[in-house]
Amino acid sequence: MWTLVLNSGSSSLKFALLNPASGEVRLSGLAERLGGGEATIRLERGGEKVSRSLGGGSYAEALNEVLRELDALGIRQEVRAVGHRIVHGGERFSAPVLLTPEVLDAVRACVPLAPLHNPANIVGIEAAQGAFPELPHVGVFDTAFHQTMPEVAYRYAVPQTWYRQHGVRRYGFHGTSHAYVAGKAAELLGRPLPELNLVTAHLGNGASVCAVAGGRSVDTSMGLTPLEGLVMGTRSGDVDPGLHDYLARQAGLSLSEITAALNKESGLLGLSGLTNDLRELEEAATKGHAGARLALDVFVYRLAKQVAGMAVALGRLDGVVFTGGIGENSRTVRAMTLRRLGVLGLELDEHANDHLPRGEAGVISKSVQKKSGQKKSGQGEARDPLALVIPTNEELMIARETAVIVGGRGYAL
Ligand code: ADP
Repeated sequence: MWTLVLNSGSSSLKFALLNPASGEVRLSGLAERLGGGEATIRLERGGEKVSRSLGGGSYAEALNEVLRELDALGIRQEVRAVGHRIVHGGERFSAPVLLTPEVLDAVRACVPLAPLHNPANIVGIEAAQGAFPELPHVGVFDTAFHQTMPEVAYRYAVPQTWYRQHGVRRYGFHGTSHAYVAGKAAELLGRPLPELNLVTAHLGNGASVCAVAGGRSVDTSMGLTPLEGLVMGTRSGDVDPGLHDYLARQAGLSLSEITAALNKESGLLGLSGLTNDLRELEEAATKGHAGARLALDVFVYRLAKQVAGMAVALGRLDGVVFTGGIGENSRTVRAMTLRRLGVLGLELDEHANDHLPRGEAGVISKSVQKKSGQKKSGQGEARDPLALVIPTNEELMIARETAVIVGGRGYAL
């Protein structure tokens, strides 16, 4: 049995056909510049890569191309469900859900909370329901995992009516990734997830940390929108809320101009004046580029502060997990971050960090057993926390959650 996982952006559609039980991927790819006149689709099947033009491609045309591939692979009849990544589920969705017309209306009602993302998700869902009318479609929300956050973590100190009437609160994102790597960390450590207190750091172009207590999110760095928290590729992360008023007066910028700059011209790009790509920044920093050096330093400093803050949410810390393109690949960022986190009892294992094979999970800190005097009764051996690298797999998580909703059997989460 196969599940088609779709992630639709404002002009792109990412797709993957997976077996939720084994994780095997039969087909994957990305359609880009949809609706822009020069759409292309890239496909990968069995190690073979092809790229085609989609003309003035729409989402429907991209999905037709996927359908043709499924036919060519002779696998179309074995596809049981379609899983959709949806960015914002507001307070309404705390779990994946079958996408009925009523549910789609509720997703539409969340558009004001994610005006950049949810409309694109909805376009993708409608196109996919047209292309695969006979299959169940399931929505998996980026925000759902964080609905377990306590009020103390999700409320802002703003007038109550803003929360009650307009839903102004912290929601958090990247939930699928945080949940997945927390589960994988428990497997790697050989300990039950319900007993573990972890901070997971998803570091890609977007970046967030999450405090995961016993498999449940209890705090996270992103908020009402994905702009809050860490320094990201082009997003600022936390700034003073007084900044908008100041810049409007001083620079004559409009609210939307400021918001666009905070989303698209800030973060690593803004600080370095060079690029949002961390790998390029590392190279430039090595060659002495001051902006690149500063961008790396601020990125790491803010990340370390957030991780330490999340430890407060957990009380006891068992592990810090690095994931996402940066977390999985940048030993520099991991080393710089861990060097700042000695206060939490984390000690970098340089050899393990430098030699972790690409794409693999592993422990990159030294395990120092605490002295028996520090052992707390009833809590077993007190251990220093470990730092781990765990490759994320949001597509697999979405495929599994989709399979569970449509009644698949034996897909352990
Ligand atoms: P997205 O959030 O778009 O899915 P990714 O998770 O793919 O992004 O992460 C992209 C980031 O990962 C980029 O900043 C990129 O430079 C960084 N990255 C990827 N590979 C490496 C590497 N080998 N070393 C350092 N950074 C890397």
